[in-house]
Amino acid sequence: MPRLCVIGSANVDYTVGLPRLPSPGETVSGGMLLVNLGGKGANQAVAARRLGGEVRMIGCVGNDADGRRIRESLAAAGIDVAGLCTSAEAATGTAIIMVDAQGRNQIAVAPGANHRLTVEMAAPHAESIAWAEVVACQLETPLPVVRWALGEARRHGVTTVLNPAPVQPLDEALLALVDYLTPNEHEAARLTGLPVDSLESARVAAERLLASGAGHVCVTLGERGVLACDGDTVVHFPAFPVEAVDTTAAGDAFNGALAVGLAAGGTLEQAIPLANAAAALTCMKRGAQDSLPQRAEVEAFLRSLGGRGR
Ligand code: ADP
Repeated sequence: MPRLCVIGSANVDYTVGLPRLPSPGETVSGGMLLVNLGGKGANQAVAARRLGGEVRMIGCVGNDADGRRIRESLAAAGIDVAGLCTSAEAATGTAIIMVDAQGRNQIAVAPGANHRLTVEMAAPHAESIAWAEVVACQLETPLPVVRWALGEARRHGVTTVLNPAPVQPLDEALLALVDYLTPNEHEAARLTGLPVDSLESARVAAERLLASGAGHVCVTLGERGVLACDGDTVVHFPAFPVEAVDTTAAGDAFNGALAVGLAAGGTLEQAIPLANAAAALTCMKRGAQDSLPQRAEVEAFLRSLGGRGR
């Protein structure tokens, strides 16, 4: 089984469906509460696990019912949660989401325990990084932990994937530790200060990020797919045409699947179609973690296309 270590966030999402979104100071009643598990780290870990990866997760939850719920749910999914630390100083990361009848939303996030993860807390789990074939990070955990994890991975010759979301400035020393950087268009634009709204502008931004130290850059372009660049080649992988009903967690599905494909020894030519297919299937269902597909679904989908879309 491909071995992965995900260093990242885990949240509980509280979603209330309302007839309309409240204005400041207003109360709108009559909604239904949905409780879901989220956080980019946990989502990517679940995505990788469902695609057949052996996954260990390093992160931090609060010493509360939500933290226990996350730990139990990830463990039930078959993810090793020995590296999921508990902080007594903050509540488990929480997102409060309101959605109106038209699907528009307002989201407030309290990162809580995710932001309490320190290098000292993660360091006892360094063995999980050395054990892995691929280490996957995002930016919902503190940058010093991300830097440490990427550095440990590099020291052990482990391939690194960084999904720079939510975007923040990254220095060249950190980018030099990233084998595969996976920004979406908005993140690529923010990281480079260049406009990114086409294949050509994505290529220019990717080349800037390669020059800043990243080994490969895969700019995800929503329904236009992915532009993958290394120093020598630029390849556009179109997305699979699907009836998208909710693109939540598409990026997480893409990153988890890409990490599995690379950990299995695949090239980008092999890993990106798997990732695009997993992401496309995620877009066809509502929800975040619940909408991440199983390996058999992805393989059946790829077979049904008969190799189209690469
Ligand atoms: P994020 O969700 O992080 O903003 P993107 O919107 O770029 O990232 O989507 C990530 C990937 O999900 C895309 O590269 C593509 O493979 C897939 N995807 C997103 N939207 C669609 C869509 N409408 N149809 C098919 N695939 C999609």
